[in-house]
Amino acid sequence: MAKVMAVNAGSSSLKYKLYEMPEEKVLCSGNVERIGHEDGIFGIKFGDQSIKETLPIYDHAKGVELVLEALIKYGIVKSLDEIECVGHRVVQGGKYFSHSAEFDEKNAAIIESLTPLDPLHAPAHITGWKAFKAALPNVPAIAVFDTAYHQTMEPEDYLYPIPYEMSEKYDCRRYGAHGTSHNYLADTAIAHYFGGKAEGTRILSCHIGSGASLCAIKDGKCVATTMGLTPLGGVMMGTRTGDLDPSVMDYLCTCTGKNVDEMYDIFNKKSGLLGVSGISNDTRDIEDAALKGNERAILTSKLFARRVADFIGQYYVRLGKIDLMIFSAGIGENSAYFREMILKDVEEALGLKIDYELNAKIRGKEAVISKDGSAIKVIILPTDEEVMIARDCMKRIENGSI
Ligand code: AMP
Repeated sequence: MAKVMAVNAGSSSLKYKLYEMPEEKVLCSGNVERIGHEDGIFGIKFGDQSIKETLPIYDHAKGVELVLEALIKYGIVKSLDEIECVGHRVVQGGKYFSHSAEFDEKNAAIIESLTPLDPLHAPAHITGWKAFKAALPNVPAIAVFDTAYHQTMEPEDYLYPIPYEMSEKYDCRRYGAHGTSHNYLADTAIAHYFGGKAEGTRILSCHIGSGASLCAIKDGKCVATTMGLTPLGGVMMGTRTGDLDPSVMDYLCTCTGKNVDEMYDIFNKKSGLLGVSGISNDTRDIEDAALKGNERAILTSKLFARRVADFIGQYYVRLGKIDLMIFSAGIGENSAYFREMILKDVEEALGLKIDYELNAKIRGKEAVISKDGSAIKVIILPTDEEVMIARDCMKRIENGSI
C-alpha cells in the first residue's frame, strides 16, 4: 500500500487528491483557491466532512503548507512520511515527453522552457512543484503531461501546412491537450466494453467541458485530436473560439485597432459560448435561456453542437469506423440538452439509434444511451484525470524507478 498525492497547480489555485494505492481509495481531496489574495480559500473534503476556510494565502508555498497541516490535523495521515510520491499535472510536454516523467531539476528546466507554448499554466506547474519539493524534500515527484497521450499521432495528423522549416525550428505543430482524460476514458471503455482488449477498437472520445476536445483512438492509441499548438484550437468552448480561419485575427485587428495580444485574449477568454451568446460560458445558463426562447442562446447551442458534429464526421473518416463514442467532462457528463443536439446532428449519417428518453435522465454517471441496432455504441463516462496521475505514480513506485 502507498499513499500518493495528485496535484493540479494553476496560477491562483492548487487542486489536490490524496490516494491510497493500489486500491485507488480517495483519502481526501480539496482545492486551495485565490492564491495570492488576502481572502484565499482553503478547502478539504474527507469522509463525510467538507471544510472551507478563508484566510490570507499569499503564495503556493502557503497553500501547500495548509494542505500538509490539514492532513495531520484531521488524522488523514499520521506522518507526512507516509506520502510516497507527488504526481503533478503538467499541461504542455512539447515534443519531449510521450509518457510521464520524473519531475526533477532537469525536467523542470524543460517544462519551463516550454512556457511560450503554454504561458498560462507552465509557470504555475513549476511554482506548485517547487512548493511541494520545499515542503517534502525527500518525496519523489512525477510530471504527468496532458500532451503525452497524443504523441502517437503521425506527422500528417500533427503538422500544420506552414513552411516546414518553421515547424521544425519552432516546434510549431499540433500537441493536443486533455490527453490524461482521453487516456483514462479509452482505458476504461476498453476494460468495460471490449474485455480489456485494445487491438481492433476504434473509439471517439468527446471530452466536453469548459475546455473541450475530441480524440480519435485506434487500438487504444491517439491518432488525431482537435486541440492544436495550444488548447485554443479545435471545437468551440466555454470562452475559446476553437479553430478559426487565421485571417480572422488580421481582419479583426484591422477593424478594431486592437493589437494581436488583445485579440488573442478575446479569442481565449471572451469568445466561445460566452462570446456568441453574450450570456454566459456555462451551458446551464445557455440552456435555460434557449428553453425560454432566447434566439441568441438557441443559435449558440446550434453552433456549439455543429462544431463538435463536424469533427465527429472528420474522425469517423480518420478511423474508418467508430465502435464506441464517449461523452465526458462537465457538459458531456451532465448536459442531456447538448448531447442530444450534437447526436441529432450526426445520427442520420452515422446510423445512430439513440434512446433520447434515457439520455435526458443521465447526469454524471456511466450509461449506454444508444439502443440495440445503433451502428455505434454511445456512452456517457465520467472522466478521472487525478486517478491517472495516481496510477502513474504507483507504476513508478512498483517498478522502482523513483
Ligand atoms: P469542466 O470544465 O469539465 O469542469 O466543465 C464545466 C462546464 O460543464 C460548465 O461550465 C458547464 O458549462 C458544464 N456543466 C457542469 N455541470 C453541468 C450541469 N449539471 N448541467 C449542464 N452543464 C453542466
